[in-house]
Amino acid sequence: MATSLDDTEIDDYKEEIEDNNCLLCGVLCEIFYSKLVRPTRPTVLFGEEKWKHRRKAKAEHVIVPSKEVEEGYFAKYPFSWSAMCRASECPKSLLGLQYILTDTVIKQPGTTKYFLSGITTIESAQLFSYVIPKDPNVARIGRKTGNLQYDDTFIRFHAANIERQPSEFQGKNIGFIVHAHCWALFDYIIPTALVEKKLEKFIRAGRKYWRNNRLWGIQDWEQKLWKAGHGRTHNQGFEFGCDIYKNPLIVPEVQKVVDNARKTKKEYKPPRCSHVPLEVATMIAEWTCPVDYTADVKNTRNMLLAWQWTFPDWFWKVRLKEELFVELNSLRESNYSIDWQALRLDLMALVSDQERYLSSGLPNRERVIGFMTAIKSNFLKTA
Ligand SMILES: [Zn+2]
Repeated sequence: MATSLDDTEIDDYKEEIEDNNCLLCGVLCEIFYSKLVRPTRPTVLFGEEKWKHRRKAKAEHVIVPSKEVEEGYFAKYPFSWSAMCRASECPKSLLGLQYILTDTVIKQPGTTKYFLSGITTIESAQLFSYVIPKDPNVARIGRKTGNLQYDDTFIRFHAANIERQPSEFQGKNIGFIVHAHCWALFDYIIPTALVEKKLEKFIRAGRKYWRNNRLWGIQDWEQKLWKAGHGRTHNQGFEFGCDIYKNPLIVPEVQKVVDNARKTKKEYKPPRCSHVPLEVATMIAEWTCPVDYTADVKNTRNMLLAWQWTFPDWFWKVRLKEELFVELNSLRESNYSIDWQALRLDLMALVSDQERYLSSGLPNRERVIGFMTAIKSNFLKTA
């Protein structure tokens, strides 16, 4: 990943960090520092189209199915996703001797076991604990205020530290945090149903990865301030090569392309290059669209249309990192009739347009998928 920081600067960043980093993407789970936009306040998330009807209820918080969050793009305040998290929790932890076993959380056999919680929105506050629904299938929108009591469908926990646990957490519930959307994206890398059965192994795999890779707990203050000001000032650019606050799971630009492919419902065309041998057709296409294309794919699109050529999968796969487009999985599994060539050309048009590509959030997805792939590999290697 491109970064303009050297090691000393990263250390400076890390002095500022708190403990609630997402174990999957390394970025802090938090709200942005803006008095107007605090996703823990019901007024913010109830302002999103899908939850508008909740406003009338005047409830401080409501419980919704977790899918509503995981599948949701927050059009009004897109960065709300970064405050919505789950936790792998360990009720009543018994901490290890930290100065000797810095990476070990020892649990009392039989009494402590990690479980995956539901979703809540959180605000960063190092010394405070968080309250989260226990049920992984639900999400809490908004927040209870005042002295209202939580019933036993909620659990209070302290956000665990990726490196080592502070001694004051001894005997308290601790939880490793993941963004709700990062957890859903992780399901494309490795089935989370499998990970859920071995959460302790997952936590070890994640912590091992981040201890060896220093880009966790990073913050891009310029971006944060820019977003908190709703983009009214000049954008200073990206500290870490891309916008780390873009939602890595929901990329509206890709969704648009996929929805369009679904609607078009074109017939599947088998590879066909009229009377020209395939080798010759690909040589001609290579000229208008080389493997490392930087220009728009308009000429390629026109050429294929004019000559009615359909190239086989391998032609496209060397030109498009399809593993990045997780949305294609459901298309492959569905019965939709898809014009794959047109779909791939649309995605290539998005990738080749640097400005569109950077603002789409895809580079952040690529960054996060890189971490997830490494964490998966640690997970599979961990005994
Ligand atoms: Zn994350």
